[in-house]
Amino acid sequence: MALTSMLRSLSRLSRRGCAGPGPGPGPSPFRHHRYPYSPFSTAAADAVERGFAGLGPTAKGEKARVVVLGTGWAGSRLMKDLDTSGYEVVCVSPRNHMVFTPLLASTCVGTLEFRSVAEPLARIQPAVSNSPGSYFLLARCTAVDPDAHTIDCETVTEGEKDALKPSKFKVAYDKLVFACGAEASTFGIRGVTDHAIFLREVHHAQEIRRKLLLNLMLSDIPGISEEERRRLLHCVVVGGGPTGVEFSGELSDFIIRDVKQRYSHVKDYIHVTLIEANEILSSFDVRLRQYATNQLIKSGVRLVQGIVKDVQPNKLILDNGEEVPFGLLVWSTGVGASSFVKSLPFPKSPGGRIGVDEWLRVPSARDVFAIGDCSGFLEETGKDILPALAQVAERQGKYLAHLLNHVMKAGGGHANCEIDVDLGPAFVYKHLGSMATVGRYKALVDLRQSKESKGISLAGFVSWFIWRSAYLTRVISWRNRLYVAINWLTTLLFGRDISRI
Ligand SMILES: Cc1cc2nc3c(=O)[nH]c(=O)nc-3n(C[C@H](O)[C@H](O)[C@H](O)COP(=O)(O)OP(=O)(O)OC[C@H]3O[C@@H](n4cnc5c(N)ncnc54)[C@H](O)[C@@H]3O)c2cc1C
Repeated sequence: MALTSMLRSLSRLSRRGCAGPGPGPGPSPFRHHRYPYSPFSTAAADAVERGFAGLGPTAKGEKARVVVLGTGWAGSRLMKDLDTSGYEVVCVSPRNHMVFTPLLASTCVGTLEFRSVAEPLARIQPAVSNSPGSYFLLARCTAVDPDAHTIDCETVTEGEKDALKPSKFKVAYDKLVFACGAEASTFGIRGVTDHAIFLREVHHAQEIRRKLLLNLMLSDIPGISEEERRRLLHCVVVGGGPTGVEFSGELSDFIIRDVKQRYSHVKDYIHVTLIEANEILSSFDVRLRQYATNQLIKSGVRLVQGIVKDVQPNKLILDNGEEVPFGLLVWSTGVGASSFVKSLPFPKSPGGRIGVDEWLRVPSARDVFAIGDCSGFLEETGKDILPALAQVAERQGKYLAHLLNHVMKAGGGHANCEIDVDLGPAFVYKHLGSMATVGRYKALVDLRQSKESKGISLAGFVSWFIWRSAYLTRVISWRNRLYVAINWLTTLLFGRDISRI
């Protein structure tokens, strides 16, 4: 009862001294405030040397600034719906595009091209490239100071030849939204980060495709031993969730259709093994799980129940002592809180995510919100932690954009400017169901709202058709929708592209 009334009162922002624009009492930490400049300019570099550079607090009469960390499902949806007539949007993220993750596995074997699943942020929210106070900053947030309303950032230069030294800068916010996602779980197993490839970003998919094609070509070289050829062509997937299963299905399709035709010398050596500690697709209906198991076995995927204990350069060791040599190892065992999220000075939800209330606010910090995989309801809300899913992240992004637009229109857009506004209904998540492909034009569609509830579940070709149609309509832009449709058609007509670029 006490909790309910506390939350209800929190849901109204009280009129407690609008400090006006800026970071509140005390001197501004910025040398250059009011007129933000690019942190990549020479002036900014000089200022970096002296200690500070970045975007200072917004001034009276200027639009309030929403700083969004991340260009994933949650952040992109939020930025798409933010009202830029009242807000400037500053996005800080190590990548300048959103990844349409449900179709990422298809890019690893060339069913789809990489560009088909990547949507540049500037197309999702054009303000970041054409509004004077809105920016996309290719950087990572490293720390937050909730009292000063600032974040610390570091530019991302990794992977570039002759890369510049990363520069550091600060950004002041009126509203700050954490949408920085989660990290692949490795459970502390030795060797995973060094020898396995994750499947979370476009560059992971590119690495997988290059390695797969390289191994195919190396295995064709005269004089190679039988044992080495088998190892090179053994693709091992660890993790039997939807991503691991979909990737295994794509790989087996690639082998059946393309490798057998175009690498006929080695066609009998290539194999896929899927290792899962429990059951594959544990969140799906039992009947669908059985269907997926049968389908994968029919496609030649070897299913192994076991726990990986150690990963070495060319082999992994299972808990029963079995050694599994591999040429390609893809790790897909779910996600957990990132080290950045763990380092933040906020109370955490169970599972170590940033704790939020029902309105997705971080209650211990004014003007701070968290959405998507990096956030979870605080224990005292009595709500369950939501699954790490695009449908959760996207809907939270949409909800928060409406909430922030509403607050801005009521005059509460600036920092520390608390006004009496009813935030409206709390965020409520309704699960719409799950889908997964298993290869060979077959998929699973599970429309139950939870594991325990009843509902429609389908498997087979019709489900595959539903899966494809649903994702085609969900792809963010018409441009990418067209790319995806054309890629599917060319794959159907001519097979997958096997050039190693
Ligand atoms: C291969 C694959 C397939 C999937 N398929 C499905 C599916 O079919 N259906 C479904 O519902 N879900 C699916 N998911 C899960 C879904 O993609 C995630 O739940 C969703 O991406 C979460 O969105 P998010 O915005 O919270 O995080 P993400 O999409 O992970 O985005 C996080 C963003 O934050 C950025 N970032 C990270 N650290 C920092 C930092 N320190 N500072 C600034 N920015 C930072 C990242 O670069 C990224 O831009 C899939 C996931 C994968 C990997």
